[in-house]
Amino acid sequence: MARNIGSRYTAHQILGRGSAGTVWLGEGPEGPVAIKLLREDLASDQELVGRFVQERTALLGLDHPHVVAVHDLVVDGNDLALVMRLVRGTDLRTRLDRERRLAPEAAVAIVADVADGLAAAHAAGVVHRDVKPENILLDMEGPLGPGGSHPALLTDFGVAKLIDTPLRTRTTRIIGTPDYLAPEIVEGLPPRAAVDIYALATVLYELLAGFTPFGGGHPGAVLRRHVTETVVPLPGIPEELWQLLVQCLAKAPASRLRAGELGGRLRELLPLLAGIGPLEVDEPGEEETELRPEYDEQQYTPADEEPRRRGAVPLVPGPAPDSNRDTHTSMRVPGPDELAGGPLGTARAPRAPGPRPGSARNKSAAVRKRRLTLGAATVVLVAAVAVGGWLATGGDDAGATPQDGGNSAPGAP
Ligand code: ADP
Ligand code: MG
Repeated sequence: MARNIGSRYTAHQILGRGSAGTVWLGEGPEGPVAIKLLREDLASDQELVGRFVQERTALLGLDHPHVVAVHDLVVDGNDLALVMRLVRGTDLRTRLDRERRLAPEAAVAIVADVADGLAAAHAAGVVHRDVKPENILLDMEGPLGPGGSHPALLTDFGVAKLIDTPLRTRTTRIIGTPDYLAPEIVEGLPPRAAVDIYALATVLYELLAGFTPFGGGHPGAVLRRHVTETVVPLPGIPEELWQLLVQCLAKAPASRLRAGELGGRLRELLPLLAGIGPLEVDEPGEEETELRPEYDEQQYTPADEEPRRRGAVPLVPGPAPDSNRDTHTSMRVPGPDELAGGPLGTARAPRAPGPRPGSARNKSAAVRKRRLTLGAATVVLVAAVAVGGWLATGGDDAGATPQDGGNSAPGAP
């Protein structure tokens, strides 16, 4: 089932499906590659293709050990493809789903890698805008680093930007899952380099805690929390690490560290973290199901959602991808047991009797349950954006002080 992509590449087999398209294992003149074939509806969008080609230089120019290199962009008939370095391994979401929480040393090593990759990108004027565990690949062929972690590489550079057509997105849609969105984006400011730092700090928190600081439930509620709530301390976290996290989750973009500094500071902490096991954190659970004001206002049924959990909205417009993998973008029809609303598996394990915490079946039930919330998340997307609009206009009252200028990387748009 080989398929030609342009004149130089052949796609052999599907590696994974995502929201923007399908990733193939392919072959090019210089050996094996990964080929991301954009979804047809995106590829047939003339304006998008135009910008895809424009972005060529920025994307092709990024050459860093912790950035998945883009070798080529192919526009061929109806095909629009991104030819990338093939990373043999897994993505960070898969690892996190499997392990639930990482030991601080491993988490910090991974995030330091990504910070270094971001520093190179920001220096080149590229803001990623969609930093999340799904877009961090772990290279199993690379050497084991601190905490037994394989090298981490950031992928999908520029993809969020490509798909963010002004027409489509500004008015109707916020890109990506809301969990990693910096408050200034919620308030309608243009995304600068500091949004990547906020998202990466959110990833670090999630690796340590097992959940994101502001995620869960109604997307509108997630957006509001980014703007108004402060991050809850993690029990047992070394103070220096906590201070870094707090600084990079600052509401004001100018208060966050730059990527290069974050990478350096994290690496300095590694010796201190050696040998510390995963933090013992109680995941926010049932006790938080009480109505929050925004649920009342929007008549949102809290029983339909998982409290304080990671939610997601589609990265791009259009039909949900059919996926053979339980990715963040997939949705499925709930089974009767899930509709009955049993214990949420590992997430609630400390309080809920039932299967052994961390057992694969139990875990996947929890994961599936989370995916279920995505259906609801999609349906309420319009409402979410309305709330976003409200936040954008009411943000000053909310007490956040977004600062623009002076905080972007040199040359960042
Ligand atoms: P999207 O961002 O469109 O949702 P992804 O970039 O996450 O899609 O790709 C989907 C899957 O394809 C990933 O989870 C990963 O398994 C695989 N994949 C993506 N890029 C690569 C790559 N460079 N090398 C190997 N596998 C990849
Ligand atoms: Mg991706």
